[in-house]
Amino acid sequence: MKIAILGAGVSGLSLARFLVEGGVPADDLTLYEASPVAGGLCRSKTVDGYTYDVSGGHILYSKDKPALDWILQQGGGLERFTSVERHTRIRYGQRWVNYPFENGLGDLPPEANFECLRGYVNAWHDRASRGTSAPKEFGAWVRWRFGAGIAEHFMDPYNEKVWKRAMHELTSDWVAGRVPDAPVEDVLRSSVGIRTEGYTHQSVFHYPLQGGFQAITDALHAQLAARVKLGRRVECVEQSGSSWSVDGELHDCVVSTLSLTDMPAIVRGMPDDVARACRELEYNGIVCILVALDRPEHPPLSWIYLPHASQGPANRVTYMSNYSPHLAPAGKSSFLCEVTVRGGAPYPGAQLEHEVVEGLVQAGIARRDEVLFTDRSEIRQAYVVFDHGYAARRQAALSWLEGHGITQLGRFGRFEYDNSDQCVIKSRALAQKLLQRRQSGD
Ligand SMILES: Cc1cc2nc3c(=O)[nH]c(=O)nc-3n(C[C@H](O)[C@H](O)[C@H](O)COP(=O)(O)OP(=O)(O)OC[C@H]3O[C@@H](n4cnc5c(N)ncnc54)[C@H](O)[C@@H]3O)c2cc1C
Repeated sequence: MKIAILGAGVSGLSLARFLVEGGVPADDLTLYEASPVAGGLCRSKTVDGYTYDVSGGHILYSKDKPALDWILQQGGGLERFTSVERHTRIRYGQRWVNYPFENGLGDLPPEANFECLRGYVNAWHDRASRGTSAPKEFGAWVRWRFGAGIAEHFMDPYNEKVWKRAMHELTSDWVAGRVPDAPVEDVLRSSVGIRTEGYTHQSVFHYPLQGGFQAITDALHAQLAARVKLGRRVECVEQSGSSWSVDGELHDCVVSTLSLTDMPAIVRGMPDDVARACRELEYNGIVCILVALDRPEHPPLSWIYLPHASQGPANRVTYMSNYSPHLAPAGKSSFLCEVTVRGGAPYPGAQLEHEVVEGLVQAGIARRDEVLFTDRSEIRQAYVVFDHGYAARRQAALSWLEGHGITQLGRFGRFEYDNSDQCVIKSRALAQKLLQRRQSGD
């Protein structure tokens, strides 16, 4: 069974590796990758000795131990990775607030602490006494879950910065398991100054010692090298009898990790309403700005959130050089600043770098005279946006494509808020299905 895999990001590469491990001869696989480099959103870049992840700071962790172990093993074993304790904070004015925010109320000025605590307790009481169910609309969900104080002091400004949309334009579909959920006792404790742990599942994460996060996809790619056609942007996928033609090359089966928004231009025969559903799926891009610093070392932070407009356009700053000693020249350090861009909007011009650095200065985390240079990477699709039309459009797109024999996989391939470990988990499940299909000769 000849299988075409469209896209050589972590999803496409790990699917191919699982298939080979399951006994598929490598020669039966062809991966088509538009870029000259494999890795997709997991790619990294090195400039003058500073390495950063081009789609924002990436860390390796997973609740699925076999998947995590598999990734570590593919990447050359644990000795090729650092193990880093996660230390994240929210910058609030000139204060550091523990993350998640509700576990850090005691770090706020007293009046803000009071407003947040009052709102949290009121929301908790309303849920317990009235048994209200979670609202669909994201802004209402935030108030239902955290109360008005936390909404106003953190959740609204932070989320509007990331999503580039008003809260009421978004749904709460994506929050399950992503927005941490603290017990009310912990919030009460944190408000009066007793430290509580909060979110523990990424408390230690891994990161490749050398080469940035891309070292993981480089290692996967190296094992498949001859099967990956780099610089091959797929333009036409069409059925040809019982086979599939990918730009004229025939395969028995096609797995696509390409974005659903791009499929109408590639797949022949898609009806207009399905094509519209694909194209209208909403997303955000990202501009990632490396800030190379003449600073011997950082405080032991992993990343921080900048929720307020006065802190500049970046919503998150990764202390990149803390992830591995090889990410900056000896005696230097780096930040990686993430600025989201509404899907389809032009990337901000060169003033963005200036605004990001000024924001860091305003937030009190950098001095202008420490900044050696900046470097930017622009990523067209970084975040799936969960607007009110998302579920119906996604359903229309996936059911037509899969009904016509094209299997979709990956973050934008299925329009899901998946990290790379979840991409690997889903690739593993798909590989099992394809191996069964191959065995039964379907
Ligand atoms: C800001 C941010 C932070 C993140 N943080 C983390 C993190 O800390 N940890 C983590 O594990 N994950 C993280 N992720 C998620 C992770 O990057 C993705 O889940 C993962 O990289 C998606 O891989 P993929 O293979 O599904 O898709 P992609 O990486 O998008 O791969 C698709 C591939 O298809 C190629 N392609 C596109 N069009 C064509 C075409 N026409 N023909 C051929 N090839 C084509 C692309 O070049 C690309 O290589 C983060 C993502 C973002 C945006």
